[in-house]
Amino acid sequence: MSLQSKKSFAAIDYQRCDIKTCAPEKGLCPAVPACAHKVIKQLDGVFESPIIFQDMCMGCWDCIDACPLDAIGMTHIGA
Ligand code: SF4
Ligand code: SF4
Repeated sequence: MSLQSKKSFAAIDYQRCDIKTCAPEKGLCPAVPACAHKVIKQLDGVFESPIIFQDMCMGCWDCIDACPLDAIGMTHIGA
């Protein structure tokens, strides 16, 4: 398999993502600690939406399960 072959990775819908709703007290995205592979991070700090380093995402769904606002979905590319 080449790197261009089928891959699944998580993607954040920033229209849905609202950290003030899902983490109003501390501003820590619950999906970040849910990712055992540590590829979703709040690079801009607390109360900011996280980003996913999709190249390293394992497509395990743990962050999707952890997001209470259904703001993370799975994207599939390739054949
Ligand atoms: S849990 Fe979901 S809605 Fe909340 S900050 Fe993380 S991605 Fe956004
Ligand atoms: S799908 Fe899994 S590996 Fe990818 S960002 Fe979510 S928890 Fe991390």
